[in-house]
Amino acid sequence: MQMKFKFLGGADVVGRMGMTMTGNNKTMLVEYGMSPSKPPEYPLDAPRVDHLFLTHCHLDHCGMVPAVCGRDRCELFTTPLSAEIAEMMMYDSLKIAKAEGYNEPYTAGDVKRTMDCVAPLTFGDAIELGKMEVTLHSAGHVPGAAMFEFAIDSSTVYSGDIHTADQKLVRGAKPVKCSNLFIEGTYAGKNHPPRKQSVSSFISKIEEVIDRGGKVIIPCFAVGRTQEIMLVLKDRGYDMWVDGMGRSVTRLFLDYPEYLREPKAMKSARRAFSEIRGQDMRSRAARGDIIVTTGGMLDGGPVLGYIRELKDNPKNAILLVGYQAEDTNGRLLLEQGCIVLDGETVKVQCEVQKYDFSAHAGHDELVDFVRKCDPENVIIMHSEARELLLPDLQDYNVILPELGKEFELDV
Ligand SMILES: [Zn+2]
Ligand SMILES: [Zn+2]
Repeated sequence: MQMKFKFLGGADVVGRMGMTMTGNNKTMLVEYGMSPSKPPEYPLDAPRVDHLFLTHCHLDHCGMVPAVCGRDRCELFTTPLSAEIAEMMMYDSLKIAKAEGYNEPYTAGDVKRTMDCVAPLTFGDAIELGKMEVTLHSAGHVPGAAMFEFAIDSSTVYSGDIHTADQKLVRGAKPVKCSNLFIEGTYAGKNHPPRKQSVSSFISKIEEVIDRGGKVIIPCFAVGRTQEIMLVLKDRGYDMWVDGMGRSVTRLFLDYPEYLREPKAMKSARRAFSEIRGQDMRSRAARGDIIVTTGGMLDGGPVLGYIRELKDNPKNAILLVGYQAEDTNGRLLLEQGCIVLDGETVKVQCEVQKYDFSAHAGHDELVDFVRKCDPENVIIMHSEARELLLPDLQDYNVILPELGKEFELDV
């Protein structure tokens, strides 16, 4: 059977994902996200849809789902863990839109209706939608993140965000044989250092900072990175604190232990850190050794308060462990050693370092994954440098989809 595909966003950028699939007498939407930039950026408008498939709860994939589910009341297929975290992210992004004076692209009522639309599925589950069978596989990106396999005459896999190497939180994704492979290419052209190496240089830096009498701030994204760092540090015996939305996400992860590589380790990591509740605890935390806190790119969240307090002492350190997008405070700090606090650019005197704890497959890992899935067609998305994968994918028919342009595939 032929099916038509169209990217509404996220084909040649990392952000605002959305793709329609039309055929089998249905219109389906795979992901519908937003880029939480200033101002936020959205995908093209979605047509009326029968089903929505959500790979995971990061805003670039889920951020606009309520605009569709609230309107069409279509079934939303995702893992129950992704659904619960996505709900938190959606309410949070409404709150941010309100606080920053941007238009709200949907209402709190739409989020509520979205949650009523959730048809929870887990890895290995297969459902029938007309002639199509849909199966979920773990994407190895963050707990609960799924790849979708759509099978009619042949099979089509949509990766979402994937990592193929094991992390402490989740094991890497396993290849799925298919004819059409939609794959993310965030790290096209770049490889990660081995994770062990990142962990050991990160830990020796922390030892060095604490030995010289300094304190360490680790800005982290709430979903995934906060918990991965907690797992890395849990047995080090320092006075450690965790702040921001990552706290609630950790609780949700523990409610769904089946999505964690080692639920026991996550429990003990949670015990190893003091959770901050309220302003009083924040000043106590600033006297401790290590603070793990949102926001990951230093554009908001409790991290700014800690930086304000600790930035002037060169013994202290800010250790960045996540991607710092252009035009963010994190990028400014890395490139120019200063950040914007309350509208004023200020110099940061403490040490700043960056470590690679990526939850995305690197270039060689992507190529290896494609080879093992053994498809005819490879469709590369979620990438700003996807042509860098072309030389290594000459054995395949590679499609680089463009925004709003329809293409057909045998499925
Ligand atoms: Zn993601
Ligand atoms: Zn993404």
